[in-house]
Amino acid sequence: MSGPIPWRLKCVECDTMHRGDEVRYRCDCSGTLDVITTLAAANRKPLLETFDARRSSFIPADVSGVWRFREIVLPLSPDEVVTKGEGNTPLYDASSLQDFTGGANLRLKHEGENPTGSFKDRGMTVGVSMAKKLGCDRVACASTGNTSASMAAYAAQAGMRAFVFIPEGKIAFGKLSQALAYGARTIQIPGDFDAAMELVERVCVDEGIYLLNSVNPFRIEGQKAIALELMQDLRWSAPDWIALPGGNLGNNTAIAKGLLELRDLGLIDHLPRIAVIQAEGANPLYTAWHDGTDVQPLKANTLATAIQIGAPVSWRKSLRGIQSLNGVVEQVSDQEILDAKARVDAAGIGAEPASCATVAGVRKLIQGGVIQPNESVCGILTGHLLKDPDTVVRFHQDQLESIDPGAAANPPVASDGTLEDVRRLLR
Ligand SMILES: *Cc1c(COP(=O)(O)O)cnc(C)c1O
Ligand SMILES: [Zn+2]
Repeated sequence: MSGPIPWRLKCVECDTMHRGDEVRYRCDCSGTLDVITTLAAANRKPLLETFDARRSSFIPADVSGVWRFREIVLPLSPDEVVTKGEGNTPLYDASSLQDFTGGANLRLKHEGENPTGSFKDRGMTVGVSMAKKLGCDRVACASTGNTSASMAAYAAQAGMRAFVFIPEGKIAFGKLSQALAYGARTIQIPGDFDAAMELVERVCVDEGIYLLNSVNPFRIEGQKAIALELMQDLRWSAPDWIALPGGNLGNNTAIAKGLLELRDLGLIDHLPRIAVIQAEGANPLYTAWHDGTDVQPLKANTLATAIQIGAPVSWRKSLRGIQSLNGVVEQVSDQEILDAKARVDAAGIGAEPASCATVAGVRKLIQGGVIQPNESVCGILTGHLLKDPDTVVRFHQDQLESIDPGAAANPPVASDGTLEDVRRLLR
């Protein structure tokens, strides 16, 4: 690479600074890394005007809901980036869910409406652009599904070879089909996500393949753009709360980092609180947060496969972010997740199970008096409804073990095909 680059990598554990232009995912002490960008002393008004003006540009990197904010995300030039026009996701008014959540002021930013159907595209456009800048032509990740779908698509677009490590039998069908379709070499590993994760990191370091798991610090920089775009949607005035699901904990880390940087730059004047929601069967952060301990790895088990992670890599960064935002961590059962999903889906919004932990968690926090009913809440829906069609169909046919669809069940009904019978079914 030519010329100095305006970012460095800082160890989360020991604060050692590393160069920003070497392939490195961890400090020598094995701590994870943060990208520290030297931001030119920003001038609030011109910067915000630039972000707004780019929305109607004809340059792909300007329109992207990630690269539009490149001064804060990562200062690459527009011709260096691999973009699919990610971001620009809708912020739905979900006040119609009030009878369910108990809150009057809920909006849902649907990150499932990204190019490959999850928020992972925001991190991946930055990760793959960095791979290209570093001259790597092979990339890899371990994934519960959405990371691999996203990586496969961006790698294909950039002409790179992609390797995906997935836990055998634990990946939703929509996601597996994407990895295969985009041409990634897909390697099934016996064991769970955490086992696949450990293996892929070793393989990447040994083989010189660029690692795009969430340990990759540049993916976090891209995911910050969820917060940046949300604040732009809200005309730079933060809501009282942002709620989102937590699995490997990269996303809440990223959103907190983005918000703190916006505040430091004077682009927002107050910070929202953050609520991170875990599945009861995959709750290491919840337990650590409540007990005030380090995260203890556990065997994860939940229907929400995107957050079925027992040994989250980013937990220390994550806890730091939650503390700076005066945040909370909540847990919800699979039944609560699917009850919430039935409501989100039936409102015409629709999302995959893990995403709906957000709404289940908001409901629980309102019931518990942590979130006040009149406070403004922006929930993040992380993945698209079509990612996990199997769970949807089985839910509506009451075929999921230990889950009761209740009145939400909406199974297909059979007709003998006569007009009379169809009329009967319309009543
Ligand atoms: C990856 C993912 C999550 C979890 O995000 P983390 O950054 O790992 O906490 C939640 N929902 C969906 C749909 C995902 O793809
Ligand atoms: Zn270190």
